[in-house]
Amino acid sequence: MPLLKTRFAPSPTGLIHFGNVRTALFNVLLAKKERGVFLLRIEDTDAERSREAYIEALQQDLHWLELDWQEGEAAGGAAAPYRQSQRSEVYDKYLTQLEAQGKVYPCFCTALELEVSRKVQAAAGKPPRYSGKCAHLKADEAAQKKADGMPYTLRFRMPKSAVLTFDDVVRGPQKFPSEDIGDFIIRRSDGSFAFFFVNAVDDALMGVTHVLRGEDHLTNTPRQIALLQAMELPIPTYGHISLIVDAHGAPLSKRGGSLSVQELREMGYFPIAVNNYLARLGHHFVETELMDLDALAAAFDQSHLGRAPARYDRIQLDYWQAQAVQKIDEAQLITWLAPALKGLVPETNLADFACAVRANIVFPHEARLWAEAVFAEALPFSDDARLVLESTSSDLFRAAVDALSEDMDFKTFANRVKQASGAAGKGLFLPLRAALTGQTFGPEMPALFSLISYERARHRLTQHVLSNEID
Ligand code: GLU
Repeated sequence: MPLLKTRFAPSPTGLIHFGNVRTALFNVLLAKKERGVFLLRIEDTDAERSREAYIEALQQDLHWLELDWQEGEAAGGAAAPYRQSQRSEVYDKYLTQLEAQGKVYPCFCTALELEVSRKVQAAAGKPPRYSGKCAHLKADEAAQKKADGMPYTLRFRMPKSAVLTFDDVVRGPQKFPSEDIGDFIIRRSDGSFAFFFVNAVDDALMGVTHVLRGEDHLTNTPRQIALLQAMELPIPTYGHISLIVDAHGAPLSKRGGSLSVQELREMGYFPIAVNNYLARLGHHFVETELMDLDALAAAFDQSHLGRAPARYDRIQLDYWQAQAVQKIDEAQLITWLAPALKGLVPETNLADFACAVRANIVFPHEARLWAEAVFAEALPFSDDARLVLESTSSDLFRAAVDALSEDMDFKTFANRVKQASGAAGKGLFLPLRAALTGQTFGPEMPALFSLISYERARHRLTQHVLSNEID
């Protein structure tokens, strides 16, 4: 059995979003599961829109998500180079071979002619495909047009009356009559190569055995298979994964909530949360717990890839984020929280504070509220806390001030206040929480209490004795 090889082949014309990264993830999971290779190829044939900065950014994003590749950009390999912009010689070679076999011909049709032809076909209810006008040009006619400086594209001659078939991993057996496809452009008039051609040549030469990619490429596949057959190159197994749609069923867009990986990272999402969410978007896992990449790969099954559009749901993403926050180890938790707490939490309290608030936060910025609740000089009060404080007798706070002593744990403190004031249950705990933290809910009081210094707790409680007495 040849080594299974999958790949991710992004066009570096923007930051990578949810959809792209899920494609990369599925390819990583398949390669990992089969102990194969995952390859990264940069499809930078669009010189106008491709940017070096995007090539950098996408690698950073993949590394962050731990979607590491063993071959390709920056990793090297036997099929180098892995940037399409550096592979012109390879493409020229195959193009020359196709030309020599008469499988490619120059097309001099203008954009206007093609447009008119498309409209005529559309009006007749036929699939838009090239009419074949230049397919029969004699060699001397074509040579004359070239000599006259007429711009031309190169078209691949689709085999006549053929049926292109393949077994799609996700969608099952596929059939495309060659007549519906027509002869298509493989090199544009400006000399640049079309996607169909370079993408297929590279997959074959780089030894890619499995291509999992977006459903939007499904109709490209018969063209690519025809090309590979013509060049006598190996044909990979294809699987076209369903697109991600928004809540209204429309393709996921920026407005529909699509986020770039960079944005996710900046918002404080954990890579493991993003991976667990994306892996389940269009793939059914029996397992319901948070899994690392190895576990996801072990449970990955191509036959569990769904055909129905995958619906993006931020609530689900945040569910996995919350799971991740609960599961990560303490050191990671602190590293994750530290930047958001700079200047709010003393360095020496960071570890205890992080553990105290873990259960109450999903994102680092949410910990700021609790940092204020513990460490702020002037405690901000929520409306609910104000209501509780206003309706609580001053006696309770007086009892609390008297009960408080240094190095006391919350249980002992609360018991003493209970005995002295007679308050119990909610009537005891809610006012204490409101006075000490400014909130009526939040992390466990014992943990917060042990972080609030004696002086600060005393000050906070005393305030309510005074204000209630003045009333
Ligand atoms: N560069 C193509 C894209 O980003 C790759 C498609 C493929 O995976 O074959 O859509």
